[in-house]
Amino acid sequence: MIRLSGCAWSRPPESQGGLPILSDVKRGILGGTFDPPHIAHLIAGETAYRQLALDVVSFIPAGAPWQKFESSVSSAEHRWEMTRLSVEPIPYFTADDSEIRRDGPTFTIDTVESFAGDDLVLILGADAALGIRSWHRWRDLLEQVELAVAPRPGVGRHEVEHAVPKTIEWLDMAPLDMSATDVRERARKGLSIRFYVRERVWQYVQEQNVYG
Ligand code: ATP
Repeated sequence: MIRLSGCAWSRPPESQGGLPILSDVKRGILGGTFDPPHIAHLIAGETAYRQLALDVVSFIPAGAPWQKFESSVSSAEHRWEMTRLSVEPIPYFTADDSEIRRDGPTFTIDTVESFAGDDLVLILGADAALGIRSWHRWRDLLEQVELAVAPRPGVGRHEVEHAVPKTIEWLDMAPLDMSATDVRERARKGLSIRFYVRERVWQYVQEQNVYG
């Protein structure tokens, strides 16, 4: 095992876009449908990395997002590829495919438990934080992570603090009025999504005609 900057670098990766998997680190976990990953996700990851002195931020696309079963979600392959392209070549961002490789619905608590030994910070938007008590085994989840919450227009801080029975670290970033739904809508209407997503994601969406 090689030690770099105080972090332990262990087995070579299969799932992290060529980066070694880190162990015993302060890790941010940013999960989502990522259909597609957009700049608000990246700014939240960047802000958390700096503000909480994280070693790494893992972007984890959900396999079968249990809260979005009814709606049509792009294939796991497209969402994985767009996530992978979004985090390259930022050394402290990694894409993790563990949830899309897992069968059945994916629950954040399972992902959190798979990173046992790490110091974990769950990064999420204010809208997601608001609903956290509906998540599978939410009490266990809140015991195992710190929470870093990105402000989101239309969601009040007090409302979130009232809904979440745990101290919240608010990310110091501008509330960004954008969502993957808006980005998909734009793409479907033939409007440009350039700069809403990383350059290579924009190209990928066009080449693969992800949103028709
Ligand atoms: P959709 O519109 O498809 O529901 P989304 O834009 O909300 O997607 P997700 O992939 O579902 O994106 O979200 C992943 C995480 O990123 C969630 O915690 C969500 O709250 C957060 N997030 C998404 N967009 C923003 C935003 N504009 N500001 C802050 N957090 C955001």
